[in-house]
Amino acid sequence: MAEQMNDTDSFDICIIGAGVIGLAIAYALARKFEQQKLDILVLEQEASFGQHISSRNSEVIHAGIYYPANSLKAKLCVRGKELLYQHCEQFQVPYREIGKLIVGRENELEALLELQENAKNNGVFDLQLMDKAQTGKIEPALTADVALFSPSTGIIDSHSYMQSLLHLAQNRGVHFSPYSRVEGIAVKASGFLVRCLLDGAKNQEQYQFRCRHLINSAGLQAQSVANSIDAVPKEIIPALYYCKGDYFEYRSKNPFSHLVYPLPDPNTAGLGIHATMDLSSQLRFGPDSDYVSSLDYEVSADKAALFAEKIASYFPSITADKLKPAYAGIRPKLAGPGDPAADFMIQGYSEHHLPGLIQLFGIESPGLTASLAIAEKVAGSVIDL
Ligand SMILES: Cc1cc2nc3c(=O)[nH]c(=O)nc-3n(C[C@H](O)[C@H](O)[C@H](O)COP(=O)(O)OP(=O)(O)OC[C@H]3O[C@@H](n4cnc5c(N)ncnc54)[C@H](O)[C@@H]3O)c2cc1C
Repeated sequence: MAEQMNDTDSFDICIIGAGVIGLAIAYALARKFEQQKLDILVLEQEASFGQHISSRNSEVIHAGIYYPANSLKAKLCVRGKELLYQHCEQFQVPYREIGKLIVGRENELEALLELQENAKNNGVFDLQLMDKAQTGKIEPALTADVALFSPSTGIIDSHSYMQSLLHLAQNRGVHFSPYSRVEGIAVKASGFLVRCLLDGAKNQEQYQFRCRHLINSAGLQAQSVANSIDAVPKEIIPALYYCKGDYFEYRSKNPFSHLVYPLPDPNTAGLGIHATMDLSSQLRFGPDSDYVSSLDYEVSADKAALFAEKIASYFPSITADKLKPAYAGIRPKLAGPGDPAADFMIQGYSEHHLPGLIQLFGIESPGLTASLAIAEKVAGSVIDL
């Protein structure tokens, strides 16, 4: 049940959205301002944390291979990976640094070498090029002429990770209010007046409160929250495209001990349908990329044949009957179909000229990996408290 608030309530910082990004920011701010004992509030429209993008992904700790040099994605992924492995060790969050293979045919050697070079530019120096024999030795079920091995790629239990962030933040006094949907925000001289709908199982209630700092980490609704802030110039709110990715579970014994990725197709919005697994070694394949117009998480069994066809390029013994619809996630893309990939967008005072407001847009992959680094960056820019 949400904590009760009334219109005289006032908080130092309000964070909208309890996905992995909002939770990581709450924890970073609680640590940074531990001595000042600030009132920090995290609002979440759902009954619990992490019900949207943060629980509908591949749960991969990415190395930082693909993103353009100096992009936020590259810098925050590489820094985030380091922080995330440390966090997992320190707080017993289940993870495994199992490594990943990016596989190709002979004619894709050039593209793999380019990827290796790109990774180096991002500070990722541990990729190893493998020939057919070496690849076959570590993954006999694979068909690949050549591969890049990334030893620092891993998998994480994302639910336990988010739970750890919430727990650590709450231990430092952060308030968490589920069932609390932000509906409108007015900018005042002293900060923000936030209007919410408290939408519990039994009753609905409107309430509002004040805060000095506001962080919009509402994921797929970040643009709609931004539009509800009266003084934010509409022209700086980036366009949002929903890009759905479906996953299928493999019904048979997992033949792999590493993650397996094809080379990303330059014209697709994702990294290609890859083989990923959870910490119990349950193998799943996905995600594909489909631009959609609504938040529909249904996975159609009809796609199994198409998935099998794509996966067969590196795992020839796959058959469609071994694929069972699992779940889907939706990417909050800032680039439309066919457009070049967009970077994460973090807007502060220099973009909107509103003191105390930080907005995060387009936090798609590698947002889970980068979460602690994104939080570090956001906490670093909240200084006047
Ligand atoms: C298919 C897919 C695969 C991915 N794979 C990986 C991967 O393997 N590795 C990796 O590093 N990253 C991956 N990512 C990216 C990663 O999952 C995201 O970057 C990250 O989860 C984004 O978290 P978030 O907190 O911004 O969004 P969310 O988790 O969606 O959180 C936003 C929260 O805001 C709440 N909210 C929205 N509007 C309001 C409102 N008005 N009032 C109150 N609350 C509100 C929502 O309910 C939600 O809980 C993947 C993403 C997708 C879609």
